[in-house]
Amino acid sequence: SMEKLLAEALVRDVPDFPKPGILFKDITPVLQDYDALRQVIDKMTEQSRPLKVDVVVGIEARGFIFGAPLALELEVGFVPLRKLGKLPYNRLVEEYALEYGTNTVEIHTDSIKPGQRVLIVDDVLATGGTAAAAARLVERAGGQVAGLCFLIELDFLEGRKALENYPIISLIRYQ
Ligand code: IMP
Repeated sequence: SMEKLLAEALVRDVPDFPKPGILFKDITPVLQDYDALRQVIDKMTEQSRPLKVDVVVGIEARGFIFGAPLALELEVGFVPLRKLGKLPYNRLVEEYALEYGTNTVEIHTDSIKPGQRVLIVDDVLATGGTAAAAARLVERAGGQVAGLCFLIELDFLEGRKALENYPIISLIRYQ
């Protein structure tokens, strides 16, 4: 649509966070503004509706903030995908490479029913490493990745290439 996305003017650039040389996209000003947040959830809902999802998986931590209200709008449940050691029950574990070292994410073994169509949600798609690990976990848990949804996509990091076969929704793209 032609309607302006309020969130776009609110995303804040923070230089050298979390380390020197990184220009961090800070979404907290979007969360603080009801109209902007409402519009983000409405757009995510509208764009993910055609994917016919059965459940939303949110990536810790900012994927929880968008994922839970989106799940309510879509009238489906919410599943948290968390960092190592945070989930209490039986888990599936997936490790992925970072520039230096590795990260580990987990999901409960009983969180997704066989064949369920899953929408994976996070705030930012950067290199795609996190989202790709999330997709692997969803598939190992018996789900089908119906698509992925982000507020922001950093095009220059080519995260889409790590997610080749899945539909991707992103509301704001930076070149
Ligand atoms: P990726 O694995 O390189 O795609 O990084 C994505 C993960 O790092 C997501 O969970 C994001 O929340 C986080 N992330 C990366 N860059 C930024 C940023 O500029 N702002 C906020 N979060 C970011």
